[in-house]
Amino acid sequence: MITTDILIIGAGPTGLFTVFEAGLLKLKCHLIDALPQPGGQCSEIYPKKPIYDIPAYPEILAGDLTDKLMEQCKQFEPGFTLGERADTIEKQEDGSFVVTTNKGTKHKAPVVAIAGGLGSFEPRKPLIDNITNYEDKGVEYMIKEPEMYRNKRVVIAGGGDSALDWSIFLADVASEITLIHRRNEFRGHLDSVEKVQELKSAGKINLITPAEVIGLEGEDKLESITIKQEAKVFKKECDHFVPLFGLSPKLGPIANWGLEIEKNAIKVNNALDYQTNIPGIFAIGDVNTYPGKLKLILCGFHEATLMCQAAYQIINPGKRYVLKYTTVSGVDGFDGTRKEAPKAVVKAID
Ligand SMILES: Cc1cc2nc3c(=O)[nH]c(=O)nc-3n(C[C@H](O)[C@H](O)[C@H](O)COP(=O)(O)OP(=O)(O)OC[C@H]3O[C@@H](n4cnc5c(N)ncnc54)[C@H](O)[C@@H]3O)c2cc1C
Repeated sequence: MITTDILIIGAGPTGLFTVFEAGLLKLKCHLIDALPQPGGQCSEIYPKKPIYDIPAYPEILAGDLTDKLMEQCKQFEPGFTLGERADTIEKQEDGSFVVTTNKGTKHKAPVVAIAGGLGSFEPRKPLIDNITNYEDKGVEYMIKEPEMYRNKRVVIAGGGDSALDWSIFLADVASEITLIHRRNEFRGHLDSVEKVQELKSAGKINLITPAEVIGLEGEDKLESITIKQEAKVFKKECDHFVPLFGLSPKLGPIANWGLEIEKNAIKVNNALDYQTNIPGIFAIGDVNTYPGKLKLILCGFHEATLMCQAAYQIINPGKRYVLKYTTVSGVDGFDGTRKEAPKAVVKAID
């Protein structure tokens, strides 16, 4: 059982900034995310796009914003459960909550902050009848551990950045890498398309287009796939089939937690602290709704800051917190680091 002060569901920009604000109040955080990496939409959908409305950053790439948020919260030593979806929540007799993921990992905290954005990203699966029989037996929808593919025969399907980038990366890891796409044209960064072209010419990537995988075969695990390329149908032996057709967000299991939901978002008390109808459970960032709500990163940061003050009161009942500027108080990391502004020097001037 992982225990913490604030359990954050969603490691997008809102969840990551919550760690920093909670840390200033000496509260520890643990984050759960269905994706294998932090950053939410910023790292999953548009890491290479510039954002222009983050205060004090005239322009910053979404991927760089994630890196900066990770750097800012590192001193407060957040814990991460990545690649797992928060599935169930149970209220305990002592008032705390136990959240269990789809992989069975349990987390306990007196406060839960849902920063789930548009929901957990679920992979879009190809329509192949028996595909579920081979999930985790040769079929994966996300690449979490590239080393798993070392010296294996890997087939990737898809025509976007993920399919291109992983094909390039695995060209040096797998014993054989094949990229299949239903069109001849790829929709990705030009440099990635050019790199795949280069690797194909060097014989390091097999490219099969326009084609799609229509069948999977194997006894206990995947052994081969059936490919349809225009009028031709043929089998290809392989160890892994990785369809990278993008991810679609779904509020998913959180919708069954007894929270008030309106238009696929969680209703909160925005006049006070972004608490939901269940005391101790907050919803911040894109996942919540209230009159005038704007789904913007800077709004998530503001909501996280106010929510942490309310979490402090739940965790330290009766204790008064006096807001201090970081310029005055400095920042004491849980890792023993201290940041502070240089002190004023008292010295006479001749
Ligand atoms: C193309 C694009 C461009 C954008 N440009 C801008 C811009 O210029 N400026 C701006 O301010 N905003 C922009 N946005 C919006 C911005 O990205 C969102 O407002 C922001 O990402 C919200 O952050 P969040 O942390 O609340 O949620 P998200 O970033 O959505 O992160 C939520 C995380 O929660 C996880 N999660 C959800 N449910 C579960 C669960 N049950 N278990 C485990 N994990 C779960 C998800 O996997 C996800 O990683 C843009 C969005 C897109 C798509």
